[in-house]
Amino acid sequence: MTASAPITQDVHTIPRKLPEGGKINLVGLTRDALRSVLIEHGTKEKQAKMRAGQIWQWIYQWGVRDFNEMTNLSKAFRAELDEKFVVEIPEVVSKQVSVDGTRKYLVRIAGGHEVEVVYIPEEDRGTLCVSSQVGCTLTCSFCHTGTQKLVRNLTAGEIVGQIMMARDDLDEWPTPGERNLGEARLLSNIVLMGMGEPLYNFENVRDAMNIAMDPEGISLSRRRITLSTSGVVPEIARTAEEIGCLLAVSFHATTDEVRDQLVPINKRWNIEALLEALRAYPRVSNSERITFEYVMLNGVNDSKEDAHRLVELIKGIPAKVNLIPFNEWPGAPYTRSSNNRIHAFADIIHAAGYSSPIRRPRGEDIFAACGQLKSATERQRKSKKQIEAETGLGN
Ligand code: SAH
Ligand code: SF4
Repeated sequence: MTASAPITQDVHTIPRKLPEGGKINLVGLTRDALRSVLIEHGTKEKQAKMRAGQIWQWIYQWGVRDFNEMTNLSKAFRAELDEKFVVEIPEVVSKQVSVDGTRKYLVRIAGGHEVEVVYIPEEDRGTLCVSSQVGCTLTCSFCHTGTQKLVRNLTAGEIVGQIMMARDDLDEWPTPGERNLGEARLLSNIVLMGMGEPLYNFENVRDAMNIAMDPEGISLSRRRITLSTSGVVPEIARTAEEIGCLLAVSFHATTDEVRDQLVPINKRWNIEALLEALRAYPRVSNSERITFEYVMLNGVNDSKEDAHRLVELIKGIPAKVNLIPFNEWPGAPYTRSSNNRIHAFADIIHAAGYSSPIRRPRGEDIFAACGQLKSATERQRKSKKQIEAETGLGN
């Protein structure tokens, strides 16, 4: 698929109704939607706001999924809720823990699809890398997710459900009745850097992030959420207005010629158009600065000239440049730049007054590093299929 082909139209989002028993999943509904759904199912309008607030708190502040445990609701109301609704999040299929403490989860969503979620513990924070789509319609040539066909957009519930799943695993829900955890949380930050292009699933990502930020629930500050985009220019202003989180952009090249190759969406919105949208972002969203992600590919985009050009391009934008040593995957057409090159590049950016951290790959032993998601799982599945084909089993 080329970057100029229509992308959003062919991506269907499943309705929030679950097939099983026709019950509606409340996870992923905005506050307003939750209120409306209660009214539709018989709650009096006058009471709906309060009831929605109570249910909201049980689900998102205390992690309760069983209506019977929602003890400030009457027994009769709880039974009614139980008949019509469910509180459901994606199911964990497998969990791997790296020697460095990184956790990678494979979760199953409706329709039997699977996505990966990665938890990265650091000294001063714990970051959850969340997926927004199954696969990706874009075909960045260095990204393994880009070689997988898009299956579908995740729903808002499946996106916020990844955060809830991780909180379950980290055992990090406050005891019912108690207020939120302070700043020292195990899961303190969210990055939308898993599988998929979040801005091609805008509404669901927006709703999920607004749920995650709600002070009566998971209550993550918008400054602790970073959305990474390959450069979907028309949605950048909306991100500032409707989400207001921090923005990272997969820049990766300093000329249109090279960026066309690496990030093909550049053929649709080139470097100049992208920079123009980025210039307006911090002001509108009130965020401090934009992260420019830059994957270091040996001999492709890692010269000193590139570093100088990058400094020129981002002039005037409050920015930080995150250098990502390329994470290789089988069959990848690139190799990782040498440490010397990466450091020389970082020094030039730094000398120009920008912070230029080199990202330390995490969870490499479990294939959890950037751009590797789903690869190991896919490989396993392929080889199982191959075995089945060879042995005539599996039908
Ligand atoms: N689709 C979004 C977010 C997911 S990718 C985007 O492209 O921004 C998250 C980050 O990992 C992006 O900056 C992406 O370019 C980078 N990345 C992808 N494959 C990589 C690889 N093999 N090695 C290092 N970084 C990679
Ligand atoms: Fe999609 Fe991002 Fe990978 Fe590009 S880098 S193929 S946009 S997930």
